Amino acid sequence: MINFNNLAELIYIAREKSLPIHEIVIAREMHTSLRSRESIIKEMQGSWAVMRESIARGLDNREKSLSGLTGGDARRLRLYGSRKGTEAPYLGEAAILAAAAAVGVNEVNAVMGRIVACPTAGSCGIVPAALYAARQRGASEEDLVLSLFTAAGIGMVIDQNASIAGASGGCQAECGTAAGMAAGALVELAGGTPDEVGEAVALSLKNLLGLVCDPVAGLVEVPCVKRNGFAVVEAMLAADMALSGIKSVIPVDEVIEAMDKIGRALPKSLRETSQGGLAVTPTAKRIERGLYGQGQEK
Ligand code: SF4
Repeated sequence: MINFNNLAELIYIAREKSLPIHEIVIAREMHTSLRSRESIIKEMQGSWAVMRESIARGLDNREKSLSGLTGGDARRLRLYGSRKGTEAPYLGEAAILAAAAAVGVNEVNAVMGRIVACPTAGSCGIVPAALYAARQRGASEEDLVLSLFTAAGIGMVIDQNASIAGASGGCQAECGTAAGMAAGALVELAGGTPDEVGEAVALSLKNLLGLVCDPVAGLVEVPCVKRNGFAVVEAMLAADMALSGIKSVIPVDEVIEAMDKIGRALPKSLRETSQGGLAVTPTAKRIERGLYGQGQEK
């Protein structure tokens, strides 16, 4: 039976068998779920179809959320991304489009549209947007679906060894994990080795360690929606760094261990309770009163 408890083990198995990481994750899933490869891949194709739909809807979204806090920014960014010459975006069109896609998927979530929690609803835009970026530069549909297994394997290891919930580990557990998943998938899609996948995950996670969860008015909108845009660009840079040969000084599983410890050390006020950080700024409080009434808690 193929099993792994951390990323070093997953990478080792892939290296030893000369297989990409997604094959190891699929083999493990076949064993644990007693399902055929065909049925597992078909299910993932279904998830990718939902992701694609949420990207298309998000990139053109003009609908405001019920709170009025979010909606329309993905479209705004997409249009900005096509400017040329001296008005062209600093990051280039590919990164801007990926950020727009990530924001868009999260905007779809904020209006109760269909998304894939990846790993959570609050961080649902990052992995799909990364794959969207890979698709824009020619990745096949088949490879995109397979790369989702690599992302899933990374998410599974983080879930087992740290956390993927903002309520227990802060936003590093949600957007941080999603960025790590996305970075690993992007490396594999670019033909990187399993070791480079691990480096990308480490580089990406390190950069988001300590990120707190402080949603304004208890809604998964501010800062979540725009944060998805930042996180996918960060994941793309981590993938590019790893593919260029840059290595993380701290091995990936030690980064995940640090992430776990940081999450446990975070005060409750910064773990999805909306009792700290951005959620208690004067503006956030004013928004909260506007939404829920004077003196009322959410
Ligand atoms: S700030 Fe909190 S609710 Fe928002 S995406 Fe991050 S973990 Fe989720």
